[in-house]
Amino acid sequence: MVKSQNITWHDSEVTKKERQEKNGHKSVVLWFTGLSGSGKSTISVALEKALFERGVRSYRLDGDNIRHGLNNNLGFSPEDRKENIRRIGEVSKLLADAGLITLTAFISPYREDRDHVREILEDGEFVEVYTKASVAACEERDPKQLYKKARAGEIKNFTGIDAPYEAPEHPEIIVDTEENSVEEAVEQIIRYLEDQKVI
Ligand code: ADP
Repeated sequence: MVKSQNITWHDSEVTKKERQEKNGHKSVVLWFTGLSGSGKSTISVALEKALFERGVRSYRLDGDNIRHGLNNNLGFSPEDRKENIRRIGEVSKLLADAGLITLTAFISPYREDRDHVREILEDGEFVEVYTKASVAACEERDPKQLYKKARAGEIKNFTGIDAPYEAPEHPEIIVDTEENSVEEAVEQIIRYLEDQKVI
């Protein structure tokens, strides 16, 4: 719901395009989506480092980190998940305007919520990266022991167990983390960015 009134948009004298030119690359949002344990954090951390070493200005927004601060008043109900993603989407849009390559690592289970972020960004700016792995594989990894807790009923509304995950239908990139290593995933995404002339 929109509550703000009497507000005016102030344009900067520096444009997004000028920022991009100075940075030597375009700004996109690499939106990682996938089950818990599918590799979003691991791959986005490795990719951020690789991009940084190439001189690309990038910034990573991570699920748990954002929930510590900006979104610490949100839980895991469908409404709160929606608001969580809406806010991340708006922050990503600001970072894109700042000329950065943003990497976001959120389960973001609902297709509609991800599509909303795609809509508020410019054409080609939203790059959906699906970290694909089965529930069984993620549960086997269980890096944060969350599946164990969900199976024991200690966590409710856990994606893949008792809450849905809607896989992307047309993601720009699919990273199969059961088949490919973290390094291969990073290479695959960098190749995509080069092919698209983002970097
Ligand atoms: P998410 O952020 O999606 O919840 P994490 O990155 O926190 O997932 O956890 C993924 C786990 O799977 C880590 O423990 C990581 O070491 C492991 N893993 C095994 N193979 C891969 C792979 N190919 N890509 C990414 N992570 C992998």
